[in-house]
Amino acid sequence: MLTQPLKSLSLNSLLISSTLASLRTLFSSSSSSSFLITQKTKQTMKFPSFSLNFSQHNNILFIRTILILLFSCATIRVDFCFSSFQSSLQELPLEGNFSFSENEFAAKDFGNRYHFLPLAVLHPKSVSDISTTIKHIWDMGPFSKLTVAARGHGHSTRGQSQADQGIVINMRSLREPEMRFSTGRFPFVDVSAGELWINILHESLKYGLAPKSWTDYLHLTVGGTLSNGGISGQAFRHGPQISNVYQLEVVTGKGEVINCSEKQNADLFHGVLGGLGQFGIITKARISLEPAPKMVKWIRVLYSDFSAFTRDQEYLISAENTFDYIEGFVYINRTDVLNNWRLSFTPDDPIEASKFISDGRILYCLELAKNFNPDNKADTINQDIEGLLSPLSYIRSTLFMSEISYVEFLDRVHTSELKLRSKGLWDIPHPWLNLLIPRSKIKLFAQGVFGNILKNTSNGPVLIYPVNKSK
Ligand SMILES: Cc1cc2nc3c(=O)[nH]c(=O)nc-3n(C[C@H](O)[C@H](O)[C@H](O)COP(=O)(O)OP(=O)(O)OC[C@H]3O[C@@H](n4cnc5c(N)ncnc54)[C@H](O)[C@@H]3O)c2cc1C
Repeated sequence: MLTQPLKSLSLNSLLISSTLASLRTLFSSSSSSSFLITQKTKQTMKFPSFSLNFSQHNNILFIRTILILLFSCATIRVDFCFSSFQSSLQELPLEGNFSFSENEFAAKDFGNRYHFLPLAVLHPKSVSDISTTIKHIWDMGPFSKLTVAARGHGHSTRGQSQADQGIVINMRSLREPEMRFSTGRFPFVDVSAGELWINILHESLKYGLAPKSWTDYLHLTVGGTLSNGGISGQAFRHGPQISNVYQLEVVTGKGEVINCSEKQNADLFHGVLGGLGQFGIITKARISLEPAPKMVKWIRVLYSDFSAFTRDQEYLISAENTFDYIEGFVYINRTDVLNNWRLSFTPDDPIEASKFISDGRILYCLELAKNFNPDNKADTINQDIEGLLSPLSYIRSTLFMSEISYVEFLDRVHTSELKLRSKGLWDIPHPWLNLLIPRSKIKLFAQGVFGNILKNTSNGPVLIYPVNKSK
């Protein structure tokens, strides 16, 4: 076993070792308050046999006194342990620092449904800050209940990056190393796990390169998406983001700093990728890159028949020279679909498109993108797209297309974020469900859910798209 699950670092041993350490300090410094705690505990233990000779009234008074003493001892003990634990953290030799107050930000996430306040937040400046802290907690022993959670950009939805009365590690403050690019035959970039994907995109474009696999939204950290999967419309071809990583540096549950890859410490590598932060903290990642396109043809078409929609999606993910991005949406009881598109897309046939009525219908949107470079004179992008679209069975009047830069395309959700923020709608609660459904059950699923369990989709997007298991 290369590593210990971080969640098994526990608090009991913290209580025990803190108490013992404090008692040692106490005896050497002759401090009275902590000594009193020990004394009170001893007296409490003696009370029961003593109390048998009292009257009933006295007994009640006596029990009350015991309860008050017990509760106050417990409170003092917790305060005492917390302050002792806090000072033990403060004494650690770190380049960064701990915050013990104003940590409310670490008790929030995009889901905005779970709020667990940590005891402390570590703002690391180096990998060694993280390993020193984890080692310190590990050394507290196996009975400690103290939890540790790495926090990337806090965009998870169920408190995954929170640690109830534990320690949150704010990965965004870890900015070493600077991004380092290798532009050889197999280009890659080495990045800190606290880096946002949007920054990696901008930096790698300076070398004419870009990562291959994305999420729909790029203001997420490398560590955050690699701990999940990182899936978007490129996954059918390149696999999720976790399939596009050459190497990781990880701090294990014991505080060791270990490099891992397919060939070196492979258990750790595969455990950490998609490991939801349970097998170690990713501190650096080597991400595979490819030559970046400049422009994107971005296409949307509608279907009213689910079978035709999935059939076309499946056909496209296995077609030759296919699109670079393939996703899809479900619209139920939405009247504004095409009007919304008109803001950023041009209809292929405006007159036909204006006759289209979506009212009350369940519609399925196939979303596609094909990358291209306008400088490449030999590029046959328009013919290629025509060839790919012609065998599909979408509703012809609903073909909408747009031509935008690669960056604009990849960062498209940020545009929606800004709009939602301006209306105060970004910080509302976001219940969220991701499901991987086998191909054999997808029609059954659609029949049971769309229009039955789910009667409208006006409160949030429903995405549906195929991925290749082999990737
Ligand atoms: C608007 C929006 C759109 C999204 N779109 C997509 C999408 O298209 N595809 C997709 O796959 N996901 C998508 N997600 C989900 C997103 O990928 C995950 O929620 C991701 O974990 C968020 O990254 P983060 O940096 O905010 O991580 P956090 O929420 O901070 O952390 C997520 C989990 O990873 C752990 N973690 C964080 N950093 C590290 C680290 N360095 N080492 C070990 N563990 C770590 C945390 O402890 C936690 O368990 C989207 C989320 C939002 C809010």
